[in-house]
Amino acid sequence: MNSGAASLRPRSMKMPEPLLNSGGLRGLYVRTFGCQMNEYDSLRVQRLLAAMGYVPVDEIGRADVIFLNTCSVRGKAEQKVHSFLGSLRRLKDAKPHLKIIAGGCVAQQLGEKLLDRFDHLDIVIGTRAVSSVAQVLQRVQESGGRLAWLPETDDGYQMSEIGFPTPDLRHPTPDTRPPTSVTAPVTVMQGCNNYCSYCIVPYVRGPERSRPAGQILEEIRLLEESGVREILLLGQNVNSYGRGLDEKITFVGLLRRIARQTGVARIRFTTSHPKDLTDELMSCFAEIDPLCKHLHLPVQAGSDRILARMNRGYTAAGYVEKIRRLRSICPEIALTSDVIVGFPGETEDDFQKTMELLDEARFDNLFSFRYSDRPNTRAAAFSDKVENSEAARRLLELQSYQADITLGKNLAEVGSVRDVLVEGTSRASNGQMTGRTTQNRIVNFEAPLSSIGQICSVKVVFAYSHSLKGVFIAK
Ligand code: SAM
Ligand code: SF4
Repeated sequence: MNSGAASLRPRSMKMPEPLLNSGGLRGLYVRTFGCQMNEYDSLRVQRLLAAMGYVPVDEIGRADVIFLNTCSVRGKAEQKVHSFLGSLRRLKDAKPHLKIIAGGCVAQQLGEKLLDRFDHLDIVIGTRAVSSVAQVLQRVQESGGRLAWLPETDDGYQMSEIGFPTPDLRHPTPDTRPPTSVTAPVTVMQGCNNYCSYCIVPYVRGPERSRPAGQILEEIRLLEESGVREILLLGQNVNSYGRGLDEKITFVGLLRRIARQTGVARIRFTTSHPKDLTDELMSCFAEIDPLCKHLHLPVQAGSDRILARMNRGYTAAGYVEKIRRLRSICPEIALTSDVIVGFPGETEDDFQKTMELLDEARFDNLFSFRYSDRPNTRAAAFSDKVENSEAARRLLELQSYQADITLGKNLAEVGSVRDVLVEGTSRASNGQMTGRTTQNRIVNFEAPLSSIGQICSVKVVFAYSHSLKGVFIAK
């Protein structure tokens, strides 16, 4: 472990070690809140702790270790984390050897304060310390104490821990085999330098840093070997990938290398910042075959005054012009976005400008949020807050407007034949498979189990607000 803030607190009594099952394995329960970055880190934790003999369990009661990956991007997300942590006290009382670890953004933000607040919590681990989770757990198990580990620099990636599967897991006992997934996330960069005035991410994830391309390609090859067909490249602002690396490479260069040097069927990425979306990147959607025809491009607001207060670095007209160009380069592209309503100082007129933008942009889908104050951010100090009830009304109006647009877009799919990458069995309807089109629409349809991992031709026969129903045509 490298230098950083660490504190070890003694517990009054050393806990007995857990009883191991016959294979020497212990249960690991992982609960992830928040974004895909957290999903990715949770996978890393599973792989790292697998090397210590921990196997994932679905029932929390069977856990010897609980890893809680927390999110603090909005106030509501943080509240959920606090109430979940509180609910674990009874479990800990009943099972004293249980170790509870909190990672992710709330852990980074509150550090030792989280240990103070929840005395049944054993470990707080910062966003830059995921790689050390096994060592930290071991230290706490040996000492019987409690630990906050918040290094100021990255503990670093090691291929053996993020590559999937690790050499040990490649020949696992049946119990330890990680479920092979058809799609997998791959982090290309961490942190953010943009400091949008509402956003906590730069404070809890640190400054922007890119991973070397060779490391990313190696990870993708390992994923491919284990059966992954689609990768999702992750970063808070992937468009600025490559800054600060010794090698000269841009995000476009990285996409081209992945398409050339690996055999993945599909590539997706998220998130793109509108101010950094270049014509060159737009052209990739027409030129790079495995690149899915979908872009998530958060706009946040339709009023230039609010966009400036948010420190977003573009205007509504500039945004609309970019998506117009994008659609002319790649007419079949699906566009999704994020919007915040009730940002401090947002008037009814500003809000109507956001509604007008939705009308113009006609997003295929939208994630919309009510603004909430986040610690350390500039907007938290703005005095002209919008009343909660007013922000709630605006959110409802916006969501119902967008729901019609989304349904209309889904209805327009009926009758078309789409390539669907089958991800697994559908949760909603028995005996059905579920997958996604290149535009990221979910399609459920009847097909044999052997279609998992295959790209199938599917005729869309019905549209719902969040998914499509299809009929299998051919593999
Ligand atoms: N890096 C991405 C970007 O630039 O859009 C995603 C950042 S954040 C993890 C995901 C979304 O949460 C943002 O796009 C924004 O809409 C929303 N968000 C962030 N901070 C918020 C806040 N304080 N209140 C409400 N929504 C917020
Ligand atoms: Fe947050 Fe803005 Fe960075 Fe996205 S670009 S993570 S919204 S600061």
